[in-house]
Amino acid sequence: VWENCLKIIKDNVSPVSFKTWFEPIVPVKLENNVLTIQVPSPFFYEYLEEQYIDILRKTLRKELGPEAKLEYSVIVENNGYNDGAPFTVKFPTQNKTELKNKPVSVQAVQETPIKNPFIIPGIKKLNVDPQLNPEYNFANFVEGSCNKLARSAGITISQAPGKTAFNPLFIYGGSGLGKTHLAQAIGIEVKRLFPEKIVLYVNAVKFQTQFVDAYFKHNNINDFLHFYQSIDVLILDDVHEFAGKEKTQDAFFHIFNHLHQTGKQLILTSDQAPADLQGLEKRLLSRFKWGLSAELTVPDFETRVAILKKKVYNDGIVVPNDVLEFIASNINQNIRELEGALISMLAQSTLNGKQLTVELASELIEKLVKSTKKDITIDYIQKVVCEYFGLPLEVLSAKTRKREIVQARQIAMYFSKSLTKASLSTIGSMIGNKDHATVLHACKTVNNLMETDKRFRAQVEDIQKKLKYNS
Ligand code: ADP
Ligand code: MG
Repeated sequence: VWENCLKIIKDNVSPVSFKTWFEPIVPVKLENNVLTIQVPSPFFYEYLEEQYIDILRKTLRKELGPEAKLEYSVIVENNGYNDGAPFTVKFPTQNKTELKNKPVSVQAVQETPIKNPFIIPGIKKLNVDPQLNPEYNFANFVEGSCNKLARSAGITISQAPGKTAFNPLFIYGGSGLGKTHLAQAIGIEVKRLFPEKIVLYVNAVKFQTQFVDAYFKHNNINDFLHFYQSIDVLILDDVHEFAGKEKTQDAFFHIFNHLHQTGKQLILTSDQAPADLQGLEKRLLSRFKWGLSAELTVPDFETRVAILKKKVYNDGIVVPNDVLEFIASNINQNIRELEGALISMLAQSTLNGKQLTVELASELIEKLVKSTKKDITIDYIQKVVCEYFGLPLEVLSAKTRKREIVQARQIAMYFSKSLTKASLSTIGSMIGNKDHATVLHACKTVNNLMETDKRFRAQVEDIQKKLKYNS
């Protein structure tokens, strides 16, 4: 029966898909119209269910009649998280999530050797460059109350990656507060303690680019998935960049599941807490909350000074303490800018051949603080508003009455009026090519809604924070 099924399936899927997803299947038994097939991993089962359930169902009914049923016997890798016995799930499945968590029945271990497409021979020995910056280690990461929880969770994880309750570790916080540094420090420490482990740091934007490349270059998608599923510690930086990118989110969802199920460590960073992330699928967000979410906040004065001291010490430069304290008291929202200020002052003092004193520092600081503040522009407002709602930028100028888009456009107009000096007609012409009356109406609508609709008000205030924070 299975042979016949395979013939039909072969004609209906691409050769690569057939090889990857159907050849490894082992038919186990056929009883009362119930066919049991064995698949190499829980991920494999999930993927079949998601991508090929229709063709499987049709084929089976063709062969066995309308009463046909399919059962899976799933091989679970023994990784200390389960007893290594395959479990069986039944078809047609009603509620997948439930099935995944609660296997319907447990079967005896199958003897049949099977080909597992996820264990590519030799891949464990493959040298994956972890893409880590050696400077971003724990020794260079100054501890403060702003990062205490995240840092200690990170240290715990590096000593037993994948084996703690902190999986995934979700690090979130504003720009320049140390997310990338801390996430990389964990990777570096894992490599130091367990050199054989495959660690990979990847930024979400890069991941997306790789995925899109794989997706369009005919069926490289399996290579892409295989590669990511071979990682022991995966660090995905700036996951908020996935907003609105559904296919990428899907791919990551599968990778996440596979890694998590096989006891591999995931570390994610984001500019917002999982609960506040816009434009990401619910099923991803719920997984992000499985482990530990730890926030990085703005460092206090002592920590800022300690960071500057560490920096000059590492670079072998001598800078008087009062200068460091002066810088630390003036730049207090962003560690990247804090370091940037120090570097730029050092450069200036070298250029001018002057000692870096508090006087010189105070001469320079004003220019610096000003130059790090971006002007808020209408373009920037549109970008932030769209990002917030997970909408592509173009929709603001689309001719549509869709409520969410109309509202996003109104909010963008409202902020353009309140935060820039542009006239109503300029704003209108830049946002959706509307006239000044439309902009005026938008401002009124937003003001009214802010008074009557709490949720709306919270959204507008969130966006305002983003606009101010990033500028
Ligand atoms: P984010 O990823 O949150 O935007 P980064 O990790 O890139 O921030 O950090 C910005 C800069 O601040 C980096 O140069 C980093 O080394 C430094 N930095 C952040 N946190 C600390 C810390 N606790 N101790 C020392 N340096 C830090
Ligand atoms: Mg970063």
